[in-house]
Amino acid sequence: MHIRDLTIKKFNEGLTNKEFTALEMTKEIFDHIENKEPEIGAFISLNKEEAFLQAEKADIKIAKDEPVELLAGVPLAIKDNMLIDGLPATAGSKMLENYKASYDATVIKKLKAADAVFLGKTNMDEFAMGSSTETSAFKLTRNPHDLERVPGGSSGGSAASVAANMAVAGLGSDTGGSIRQPAGFCGVVGLKPTYGAVSRHGLIAMASSLDQIGTFTKTAEDAAILFKTIAGRDKFDATSAPEADKYGDELLAPKLEDIKGLTVGLPEEYFIDGIEPPVAKAVERAIEHIKSLGIKFKKIKLPHTKYALSCYYIIMPAEVSSNLARFDGIRYGDVSAVDKKLKSLSELYKENRSHGFGAEVKRRVILGTFVLSSGYYDAYYAKAQKARALIKKDFDEAFKDVDVILTPTSPTTAFKFGEKMNDPLSMYLSDIFTIPANMAGLPAISIPVKGSEGLPVGFQLIGKHWREADILGIGQYYERLHY
Ligand code: GLN
Repeated sequence: MHIRDLTIKKFNEGLTNKEFTALEMTKEIFDHIENKEPEIGAFISLNKEEAFLQAEKADIKIAKDEPVELLAGVPLAIKDNMLIDGLPATAGSKMLENYKASYDATVIKKLKAADAVFLGKTNMDEFAMGSSTETSAFKLTRNPHDLERVPGGSSGGSAASVAANMAVAGLGSDTGGSIRQPAGFCGVVGLKPTYGAVSRHGLIAMASSLDQIGTFTKTAEDAAILFKTIAGRDKFDATSAPEADKYGDELLAPKLEDIKGLTVGLPEEYFIDGIEPPVAKAVERAIEHIKSLGIKFKKIKLPHTKYALSCYYIIMPAEVSSNLARFDGIRYGDVSAVDKKLKSLSELYKENRSHGFGAEVKRRVILGTFVLSSGYYDAYYAKAQKARALIKKDFDEAFKDVDVILTPTSPTTAFKFGEKMNDPLSMYLSDIFTIPANMAGLPAISIPVKGSEGLPVGFQLIGKHWREADILGIGQYYERLHY
């Protein structure tokens, strides 16, 4: 089987039918990475030796006919803000250039228990702040569909690696769209689970009330498999919820009669003039195809959507400014300033943080400390929290009428390098459709529109809390349609 055709599902079938071994496939993928990586730049570090050992471990179980998990031997790409014991975890920042993780993130523990293979750590915007992977301190990642264009961000490396067949699937994190937007730009499936479904223990925090780990896969079926493996309550993450232990087999094998019974809402606030015509056309096409499954559509309203972006750019930087306070050059971070003749502790902090953080991170730390400062707290932070509650309430109201909400994932297709780097506001706008789901903690998935020409376009399905089954189910039946 060619690696281009591999999904998690097909990998498992081939492996358990003994058509190939995990080691053979892992080797083949590393050969492919060797060829492709100079042009794509998806990885910050590779994990070749250990990956071969992990593959062999899966092969031994198969050879002994022991039962294995669906992910056994499957080569995965992991965003570089998740900790794998002993491996570098830079979060795309110079600040953590020499840092090595001293424990496994909970998602990694779960994947190790399932005998998955870790190919390496993927490139990302610094501390996950960005929409193009251009704020990485290390390298550019190119969109496999057009090398002149960005892969999206911040999880651009994971998205590009799956799109370029340099991994069968991958993990990313999504605070405002960092899984769904790059999935849309690269033509793969990206799932951001319900807030609290997947443990954030061992994820380098950006904005803790919004961050959620999720998946990059070639199909919605694979997203269901990978998500089910990483979901679950975790005593190391107080925000992971008991519902996270209750996901059942309906994720993997949705019934057509259940899916047909769903009603999909189309929010008028999301189908606006600013959407690029090819995006609007492609999403229209996906809607027609989903209708052909027998699913009903309904127009809905989410009136507070217009506040989501500005609210996000208050709440997120506020949390960023406190989460990133720990990178002081002593506990974490770059110690290069230590040798210098510094007069005070604050000078040491200043030296380290000026040197270790890039421009976008600094912008957000400054913005965050400002909105939290006394005198401005009520005007900005407290007000944004109130608006966040209204955004959530919009969804509660809408979900009385519909089961799932469909929108474009982004207003544009992948843009060119440099196009938005000097214009933060236009960069921020690329998450206008993805941010509301983070604000409300809802599960959302980006699925590539099938059969459209040109650059990939994703459409987004937003579900009710804990109803990943609905969005994954529609995705799986949509994928089975023939064009
Ligand atoms: N692009 C958004 C931002 O820059 C979202 C980032 C994310 O989801 N990590 O904040």
